[in-house]
Amino acid sequence: MIKTASIISTGDELTSGRTTDTNSNWLADRLSAEGVEVVSVITVGDDSERISWAWQAAAADVVISTGGLGPTADDLTTETVARFTGRKLLLDEEQADAIRGFFDRVGRSMPDNNLKQAMFPEGAVPLPNQRGTAPGYRFDLEGGAVGVVLPGVPHEMKAMFEEQVLPWLRGQADADRRFVSRTFQTFGMSESALDEALLGAIDPARGRLAFRASFPDLSVRVSVAGQPEAAERELDELSKEVHRRLGDAVYAEGDTTMQQEVGQLLSRRGLTLVTAESCTGGLISRRLTDVAGCSDYYTGGIVAYSQSVKEKVLGVSGVTLAMYGEVSEETVAEMALGARRLSGADLAVAVSGIAGPGGGSDDKPVGTVCIGMAGDLFSEGAFSGGEFSAGEDIYLEGGACARTYKLGGNREWIRVLSSQLALDWTRRYLLGLEPWRSGFGVRGGG
Ligand code: AMP
Ligand code: MG
Repeated sequence: MIKTASIISTGDELTSGRTTDTNSNWLADRLSAEGVEVVSVITVGDDSERISWAWQAAAADVVISTGGLGPTADDLTTETVARFTGRKLLLDEEQADAIRGFFDRVGRSMPDNNLKQAMFPEGAVPLPNQRGTAPGYRFDLEGGAVGVVLPGVPHEMKAMFEEQVLPWLRGQADADRRFVSRTFQTFGMSESALDEALLGAIDPARGRLAFRASFPDLSVRVSVAGQPEAAERELDELSKEVHRRLGDAVYAEGDTTMQQEVGQLLSRRGLTLVTAESCTGGLISRRLTDVAGCSDYYTGGIVAYSQSVKEKVLGVSGVTLAMYGEVSEETVAEMALGARRLSGADLAVAVSGIAGPGGGSDDKPVGTVCIGMAGDLFSEGAFSGGEFSAGEDIYLEGGACARTYKLGGNREWIRVLSSQLALDWTRRYLLGLEPWRSGFGVRGGG
């Protein structure tokens, strides 16, 4: 039964700060999702003595190392592991053929030093690498622990972990004990507000709660360990409690993104979306088109950065621009209406704001962002009817809706947050929730 793990990442580029050690983060996250506690993460340079030291220090049921499997002299992981464990290095013909095959496929002849990558400590189980030349391997350490050695190239490492290490890891677990977890993606509550809302929701004896902030996403993971059926039942119950407490701040369950969620909702309803962006400069479009298959529901977007494009392309009236300015609810409402008219899409979302650092005024400081939306539900009055609480000042007329936000942070944050708001408006509209209630500090009427 594997309960603990240590991670070793190797490479001068990591210890010198030239490359960020993303492998360790990723592995730690995947391992904790399996209920394996990561007890240490060690990063060392390409130095045999330090690699040895790391293997000595890494006391856990499984030690997973990445990096240092290249063909060159500075790739020392395998020879160090062999020395550290007192094993001979042997050539594995099958893996040597696989490496030759890799070079054939890319139309190059194999340099001699690549054969080094088919050398394994005696007794190790090779882990083939379909995406690169360096296979990994698994071997027994003293005291029943296991070592797993993987290459450093992130996409090769990840695929090998998912396809080969994970099934093995799961096979080590007790049949009558299972670790189950569920992730909730949220938007609109700060980490401390989430923490407060979930206070006491989960008895530590029954399950665990973990928060993860990766701007603009904030997720909550609930995990339970126990007998398979009981654990699943418990997880279902705890999940209901999370939904009850967080309400519509939870936008999805599982490993997903706001743009994927929006895409699914649009597909399911057979509706199309168009975007009109000013301060986000195409970011919303970029995020929507990150999702494969988006052409089914995303008609496109217009980046209307200047006043003249807002006016000449989107048809925002000169009077509106002169009276209220480019960053105003009136303008984004007309941007959305114009984009909808041009594209024939069912729904349009528009953004205009001051991302800074310059361009702010007393009236409209940096961080002032207006989100606008046009869609049939607004003209059908689906969202009207005295629903606003005090202090909620929104624009709602002529088939469009808009609201002004005051966002904090630097230019990058403001732009990312604006794109998240626009996507969340879309999500809310599609769910029949008032779009303008999206965002931080909006709940509770302020
Ligand atoms: P290696 O297997 O040591 O030859 O690593 C190959 C490449 O993978 C390095 O040049 C890095 O760009 C990348 N790499 C290695 N280790 C890591 C890591 N821990 N995190 C992110 N990238 C890494
Ligand atoms: Mg390296």
